[in-house]
Amino acid sequence: MVQRGTDPDPTRLLEIQREAFEILAEVGAILREGHFVGTSGRHMEIYINKDVLLRNPKSTERITKLMAERCSGIDIDVVVAPSVGAIILGNRTAGNLSTDEEVVPSLYTEKDPDGLQIFKREGSVEIVKGQRVLIVEDTAATGLSLRRTIEAVQAAGGIVVGACLMVNRDTKRINSTTMGVPVYWLVEMDVPTYDRNECPLCAAGRPIAVGVGHGKTETTTE
Ligand SMILES: [Zn+2]
Repeated sequence: MVQRGTDPDPTRLLEIQREAFEILAEVGAILREGHFVGTSGRHMEIYINKDVLLRNPKSTERITKLMAERCSGIDIDVVVAPSVGAIILGNRTAGNLSTDEEVVPSLYTEKDPDGLQIFKREGSVEIVKGQRVLIVEDTAATGLSLRRTIEAVQAAGGIVVGACLMVNRDTKRINSTTMGVPVYWLVEMDVPTYDRNECPLCAAGRPIAVGVGHGKTETTTE
């Protein structure tokens, strides 16, 4: 187990948030005043386009250094991330948590046909069993895939010691109390999301973005 120090102090926590926000803004990952459809199918005006972050390895590395620092108070054996987008963040965070003496393994879960997150790769369950696991997630809007990943780790006999999100889109719904494990995040961005039938952006006739998010699926089925 990689023994760590203490949590970042409150001043540093604010700096971590600010730095993470700046990195996302710098790479153009924060899209405003649009009309987007998230993974959950809900509509929103602001969207985090993590793809532009992940195609920039230097910025991705900076973000995952901050994620590792944010979790510096936890003793962690293994990092687990849900497919697909969070795999890169999970891997680099695990790298940043590793020391000269000890490597923190990086694993990922995948969706099964029922929408659950499961370990499909050989050996993953054995690595997780009985270990202290940090879950890394990119952006969480409903917390569903985070919840499913927690369940997968627990089903494999792992102990979830924390979950670190790059962006928390709904801090009321996604937090340590609701998830039952300590939840940390770099950036919080509580942006309202709407059911398509109650979306004010739809009502205003604003076109749905098809280039990012799940807008393409939505507009082609209409
Ligand atoms: Zn809409």
